[in-house]
Amino acid sequence: MVVVSQLHKSFGPLEVLKGIDLSVARGEVVCVIGPSGSGKSTLLRCVNLLEEPSAGTVVVNGVELTDEDCDLDGARIKIGMVFQSFNLFSHLSVLDNLTVAQRKVLKRGKAEAERIAHENLERVGLSEKATSMPAQLSGGQQQRVAIARALSMNPELMLFDEPTSALDPELVGDVLGVMRQLADEGMTMLVVTHEMQFAREVADRVLFMDDGHVVEEGPAEQVIGNPRQERTQTFLARVL
Ligand code: ATP
Ligand code: MG
Repeated sequence: MVVVSQLHKSFGPLEVLKGIDLSVARGEVVCVIGPSGSGKSTLLRCVNLLEEPSAGTVVVNGVELTDEDCDLDGARIKIGMVFQSFNLFSHLSVLDNLTVAQRKVLKRGKAEAERIAHENLERVGLSEKATSMPAQLSGGQQQRVAIARALSMNPELMLFDEPTSALDPELVGDVLGVMRQLADEGMTMLVVTHEMQFAREVADRVLFMDDGHVVEEGPAEQVIGNPRQERTQTFLARVL
């Protein structure tokens, strides 16, 4: 589903990604862990070309996004992204947040877009919040709305960049619960997270990144439970 080869990304003189190889199979959940500044967000943003790689290739769903002739807008429709900050449209109701892109981008009619929005609100446990405004919701509810909004576009791949790190601790569980349910339903997911317990329980594979490199990768039980590399061990000793 995702094949990233020899990905490099520099910002001016600063080389942030130094040759990343990454693959995510259909239905697989891959978690990316690593210290602040190691390039995790940059990697995720390169996967949907929100950042343009300096070198290397990104293929999603058989389409090479790094090909200069690629229809990026078309390819991105299949990729949902959820950020640390919820990025809801504050002036729109929850329902309208979920329907606006469906109508504009997918050209769905109002009734169909609203039906799909309601289905996805139910999926994240927020059926009763359709008419609320984002500011009336807790952070965890807003993040679940952001997930429902992404799901309303029928993505084939979901990218999550630390979706729970801006939340109060008691709200984290609800969001992780929704993500766990998505994983169980077979969604292909690439998740940057500091939630080691989630990575351990949900990820098919874990990548540890440091200083622009993938230092270690494998099943969660290995990378988190029994890391081989000293840098991974040092990082985990600090976060666990
Ligand atoms: P965190 O865990 O804190 O979110 P991260 O692993 O996601 O960290 P990135 O956000 O990918 O790290 O940043 C990696 C490096 O790239 C950092 O040194 C950062 O300052 C730099 N960087 C990221 N985006 C830009 C940008 N648009 N312009 C210049 N430098 C950038
Ligand atoms: Mg980041």
